[in-house]
Amino acid sequence: MKSIQLVAHRVLEPRELPMPPDPGPGELLIRLRAVGICGSDMHWYLEGGIGASKAVYPQILGHEPAGEVAAVGAGVHNFRAGNRVALEPSITCGRCEFCRAGKHNNCVSSVFMGSPQMFGLFREYAVIPADNAVLIPDSMSFTDATIIEPVAVILHVLELAPVRLGETVAVMGAGPIGLLVASMARISGASKIFVADRVAHRLRMAESMGADVAVETPRLQQAVMDHTRGRGVDIVFDAAAKLETIHTAFAVARLSGRVVLIGIPSEPDLPLDLNIAMAKELNLQTIKRSNHNAHGAIDLLQSGRIPAGLVTHEPGLDVTPQAFETLAAYADGVGKMVIRID
Ligand SMILES: [Zn+2]
Ligand SMILES: [Zn+2]
Repeated sequence: MKSIQLVAHRVLEPRELPMPPDPGPGELLIRLRAVGICGSDMHWYLEGGIGASKAVYPQILGHEPAGEVAAVGAGVHNFRAGNRVALEPSITCGRCEFCRAGKHNNCVSSVFMGSPQMFGLFREYAVIPADNAVLIPDSMSFTDATIIEPVAVILHVLELAPVRLGETVAVMGAGPIGLLVASMARISGASKIFVADRVAHRLRMAESMGADVAVETPRLQQAVMDHTRGRGVDIVFDAAAKLETIHTAFAVARLSGRVVLIGIPSEPDLPLDLNIAMAKELNLQTIKRSNHNAHGAIDLLQSGRIPAGLVTHEPGLDVTPQAFETLAAYADGVGKMVIRID
């Protein structure tokens, strides 16, 4: 079967893989149909790792998948061949202290698809635990179903850092995660939403996906102060993870406000100045993946309340290497890139 493999720093190649074995007890064989490219895939590709985790070549990226059940293993009664599904990318043990406490995203022995732990899903077939599959509605396209995973991440973000009715919000970064945060903050009842980015076409996307004010990052602080009577916003979400965006987040948050760090920094040692944050007694929150939020994400996407237009490109599996380069260059007006596997 076809696969796209990361074989060296910034080198993706089409390579044949043997077909996976028949699904074992409790497993499903999935025929992948669409897989989104995530910002974390870009970290593996461009930086050869995420924080202390280094890429191990060959590595197969991709953890925002949708597809069809091709075969079911013994003991699986809730799926049958032909079912359309999305996959949750983290395989968790269900038994450790944190799984038992309902914090599955912090499972001590989790295995994440697309990391060096397990091949990801830029390939035609994969065997996965049935527990990781969720049925998707017939009316939902496979492309839309790849958005379930990032929406689930934002639902988890909003569990830890809710936007309350009437609050003012700033979002650093207008990539797919920042755009989803803006649209979901609007659904939560934010009174005013600011989005900052350095890429012009992304600011235009932000305006159509929920931002009241979309400005270049260096202009955000002035815009926030102008629109909040000099007070600052109640909550800031950083989906860019640059020194500039985190410092701007500290600057635009109100006293005792909240700053939520969603993005993964590209630089290992950000020289972060915490003095502003401490002088304001900001509440800092970090985020790791999602915590079984897929069903809520499906319902929210089905409701139509998240504006369309996030997915701008749907190339085929063969041109995945070019798709990564388009994303790396922020070229061609790209928003969310979803790889189709026909
Ligand atoms: Zn991701
Ligand atoms: Zn666990």
